[in-house]
Amino acid sequence: MIQQQADRTRGFQQQSVKQASAKSPVANEALAEVLDRRTVVGTLWKREADRIRCVACGHVEKKPYFHVYPGSDALTFGMMGCDFHCSYCQNWVTSQALRDPASLAPVQAVTPDQLAGIARRSDARLVVSSYNEPLITAEWSRAVFEHCVEAGFTCGFVSNGNATAEALDFIRPWIRAYKVDLKCFNDANYRKLGGVLENVKATIRMVHERGIWLEVLTLVVPGFNSGDNELRAIAAFIASINPQIPWHVTAFHKDYKMTDPENTRAEQLVRAAETGASEGLKFVYAGNSPGQVGEWENTRCPSCSTTLIERYGYLIRDYRLTAEGKCPSCATPIPGIWSERGAEDVRIGQSMADYYHRLPRAVRI
Ligand code: SF4
Repeated sequence: MIQQQADRTRGFQQQSVKQASAKSPVANEALAEVLDRRTVVGTLWKREADRIRCVACGHVEKKPYFHVYPGSDALTFGMMGCDFHCSYCQNWVTSQALRDPASLAPVQAVTPDQLAGIARRSDARLVVSSYNEPLITAEWSRAVFEHCVEAGFTCGFVSNGNATAEALDFIRPWIRAYKVDLKCFNDANYRKLGGVLENVKATIRMVHERGIWLEVLTLVVPGFNSGDNELRAIAAFIASINPQIPWHVTAFHKDYKMTDPENTRAEQLVRAAETGASEGLKFVYAGNSPGQVGEWENTRCPSCSTTLIERYGYLIRDYRLTAEGKCPSCATPIPGIWSERGAEDVRIGQSMADYYHRLPRAVRI
């Protein structure tokens, strides 16, 4: 059904099965077999028994979605593999499971119905496909989302943006939120990660055109994409589609195979955020540096600058949007998917205990 996305992914799957079997016949044998059985021409995922790698429940801000039910929990599930091979991948244990013999991620069986039950028990409001690249297993994600939407959850993708139009149309009826990583604005560097810049730019356009709520994230890696001109070009591109699309700039930490660049400093994030705002973006966020980036953690009204949502990392400290999703001072509508009951429905906390309580937790199947 989603032939083009399957074509784009199939080369990766076949190569990965071969590599997994050759490099680590013991550790990856079961996984390679599983994938081999399910790699079918013209199909992304052949359903037998449904399997995933990991499930966790945590705040929606970690995705990050800052304009989707702030303060809510999102049940997040992932599978195996990614068509990219970013050397700084923080989820490499799952994303590189088919390539890297050091990744010994086991598979675990779970059904879409069970996942909906876990989301209910976990008091989640969203169900999100992440940890690996959900596009390469879009058929399985859709099967999960069909159950979860029916059960009343809002569903979303956290994705590298290497999508085809047919894959987006395939999942469109079931998702309301989509986060795309726009990793850099230099095609040669994109190809080092396994991607193509124009494909990701096209995905951002297509997601927005389809009316799916979109947030874009750029991990600022010193020396890779941190130049002013490159960050300015990214911001200008997003603004050219719609200046109301939130742009998150987040801090790189040494991880996986990328251990040379220094960790991103808070002042570099602030500079990137200022660059985004100067290009006309209305909602720019400097992430994963709680308390170090001043106002750039907060949502402010683009018309009157009233602080509408105050954050400390993943913790919501204040929420002032009206039930209609408007600024209480000047009534400017703020784009996003908001609680219909305003602050009454939003988890707000002030203390470090509240902050730690909001950290993600593993859930039992
Ligand atoms: S696209 Fe994301 S999941 Fe895939 S390798 Fe890169 S960082 Fe990891």
